[in-house]
Amino acid sequence: MAEEVDYESEDEKTTTTTTKKTGGGSAMHSANFKDFVLRPELLNAITECGFETPSQVQQECIPVAMHGSDIICQARSGMGKTAVFVLATLHLMDLEKENQCQVLVLCHARELAYQISKEYKRFSKYMRPDICEVFIGGIPLKQNIETLAARVPPVIVGTPGRVLDLATQKKLDLSKVSMFVIDECDRVLGGETRNGVETFDMRSEVQKVFAMLPLEKQVMMYSATLPPSIRSTLKKFCRDANPKEVFVDDTQTLKLTGLLQYMREVEEKEKSAILSDIIDNYEFNQVVIFVSNFKRCQVLSNLMNEAGFPSNFIHGKMKQEERIKRFDAFKSGEFRILLATDLLGRGIDIENVNLVINYDFPSSDDQYLHRVARAGRFDTKGLAISFISTPEDKEILAKVQSRFDVSIPVLPAEVIDYNLYKN
Ligand code: AMP
Repeated sequence: MAEEVDYESEDEKTTTTTTKKTGGGSAMHSANFKDFVLRPELLNAITECGFETPSQVQQECIPVAMHGSDIICQARSGMGKTAVFVLATLHLMDLEKENQCQVLVLCHARELAYQISKEYKRFSKYMRPDICEVFIGGIPLKQNIETLAARVPPVIVGTPGRVLDLATQKKLDLSKVSMFVIDECDRVLGGETRNGVETFDMRSEVQKVFAMLPLEKQVMMYSATLPPSIRSTLKKFCRDANPKEVFVDDTQTLKLTGLLQYMREVEEKEKSAILSDIIDNYEFNQVVIFVSNFKRCQVLSNLMNEAGFPSNFIHGKMKQEERIKRFDAFKSGEFRILLATDLLGRGIDIENVNLVINYDFPSSDDQYLHRVARAGRFDTKGLAISFISTPEDKEILAKVQSRFDVSIPVLPAEVIDYNLYKN
């Protein structure tokens, strides 16, 4: 597994819903969760979670998913994609069936798998206990085998490598899966460049898992970014010849409504002083500071602590238990400053983060979007500040601005008014 890893013919008749939005994640129509006619136990849990109105992606996708159709969905981070497949699969599952996996959800990162499993737990509160288990690398395999020997849960969320291991060793029977979900599917099925070489490790693991699933199953794939090159690959995994394709927001003009974005050109040697200055002067609930690799993550966190800014860090070289522990501690607000590699760049939802700093600028425009979307999720506001220090950074910044049709101005000398990004 890589640091985190962890790790084509178009069908002309495809039904595509491309919806351009001007607002944030909130509903554009007057739909209500009750209109979906979900199980009453689910509606109770939805109310308890404080969800009042379905977001646009939920309005577009939940009825289609509940109907059992295959879905390929692209919607920006923070719009409530997770609830789409969690609610639809919980609604469709057969509660009478014991000891078999009906829903398999795969995603690229262990923390994301853990986060998705928590959503299953939250929404299934009134259905039955222990609806979901998470199987991810970094946790002893034996532990997963014991869990499965005691009882196979109806929902399994995992990373491809671990699920494949369990299935290959015949500890996990996938032959009864009726719903198959891939979250962050472009990352899972697309290639990844490691040391300048493009690899498709995770895709080949997923293909092997896929071969163990029954032919008749619903397939749902979600991501914030879906480059055109990956779409035909995604369709090969679908059962329906014409999966429902939902693109909420067009990638060309993908806007992060509510998010203020600024950049500052800095020399590498000035970075830590400027960072301290920002942390000292800017108000925020919680901040995620992205760096390019685990060493920088550790070193910078130490520097921050020495400078009197209590912080912690998460990267892919840490023990899984420790990663989850720190992730949970940050989520529950035990500390406010988190240094992270791109491990946390995608899909992770931390409600109170309203400041993201790209200490090291990301290596792609997609990655920029995933990172800055950690602030300003689901109609909340946020601020993203990026340090630009190399010609490559400038190149990627130009790509970001042109692709997302956004102008990222220079960070003004005076501190940004907190009311503009307070959530
Ligand atoms: P996601 O895009 O799935 O990561 O969701 C982003 C955040 O929005 C999560 O904290 C969800 O709990 C929250 N969320 C999703 N749907 C709704 C909704 N309809 N109303 C309020 N919050 C929501």
